[in-house]
Amino acid sequence: MSKIVKIRDIEIGGKSNITVQSMLNVSMSDIEKAILQAIRLEQLGCDIIRVSIDSEDDARLIPRLKEAINMPIVADIQFGYINAIHAIDNGVDAIRINPCYIGEEKHVQEVVEACKKKNLPIRVGVNSGSVKKEFIDKYLGVNKFSLVESCLEQVKLIEKYDYYNIVVSIKSTNVKTNYEANKELSSRCDYPIHLGQTESGSDEDGLIKSAMGIGSLLLEGIGDTIRVSLTEHPAREVITGRKILQYLDMRPYGIEVISCPTCGRTKVDLISIVSDVKRELKGINKDIKVAIMGCAVNGPGEAREADIGFASGNGEAIMFKKGEIVKKIKEDEIIKVLLEEIEKM
Ligand code: SF4
Repeated sequence: MSKIVKIRDIEIGGKSNITVQSMLNVSMSDIEKAILQAIRLEQLGCDIIRVSIDSEDDARLIPRLKEAINMPIVADIQFGYINAIHAIDNGVDAIRINPCYIGEEKHVQEVVEACKKKNLPIRVGVNSGSVKKEFIDKYLGVNKFSLVESCLEQVKLIEKYDYYNIVVSIKSTNVKTNYEANKELSSRCDYPIHLGQTESGSDEDGLIKSAMGIGSLLLEGIGDTIRVSLTEHPAREVITGRKILQYLDMRPYGIEVISCPTCGRTKVDLISIVSDVKRELKGINKDIKVAIMGCAVNGPGEAREADIGFASGNGEAIMFKKGEIVKKIKEDEIIKVLLEEIEKM
């Protein structure tokens, strides 16, 4: 089991809840927009937010962002170790940095010492695009071995200065490599792991790759915090991340709608009904499962896990709870009756 690292009051690792992270896709220099986006992501269930800090001016805006939200802020440092120092001086809660690209070792030491003073976690890691050539040559390509060695080299650079407040990450664009590398990583160190399927794309591609890449590892007990990386608004990342956890029974995230795929026996426009039901249920924050099925014969049995459900056909719908039939209603009353029942729960 991984050890526990704390980002402000949020625990990552051990048996703590798996947290959901995202990253602002607006610049800190546009602080009003950054604040609005961060507030929206927090409302959607984001636990930790990462922001790009590329200058001292960006870092000076951290207190304004901090005032507007409750979730901890991680400074993402790509260029210049000095920006990490500025972010720390301005009250950031954690740093994401790649020590191998800082350059002079004294600068790595300076960042580590600054984090140590405030006990701030440092996330280090490697993406499939940033593995050092030395490891690619040694292990004949970008694979689990070169990814893990590259990651652990960075860990050692921090441990050298007697600092162990570390979160590690390995992200690959390839689902299988991502899975293998994170398994290997978890067997080689006990730092909490930040999971992600990097550059997974948009739409179905992004959702499928993320669910597979992150979900497969979580099912094996690997991973302590997740970030879904989509070429979309970060709100979608947060929703997807939360739903991955919800469907693995790891954290609730509102109402789950179960519905059948329809078949030759379906005698109702189930696709429209389900879409209407989902629209009406949006924003209801109850941890329950609702089933909408296309026939009275198999529906209740197939959706036995649902707290409440409806099986339609020929203008009528039977209502069932936990697979047991309760009553019969008219098909156009489904939403009204469903909302009334949810209200009582
Ligand atoms: Fe077909 Fe009924 Fe199964 Fe839906 S629940 S797929 S309508 S058999």
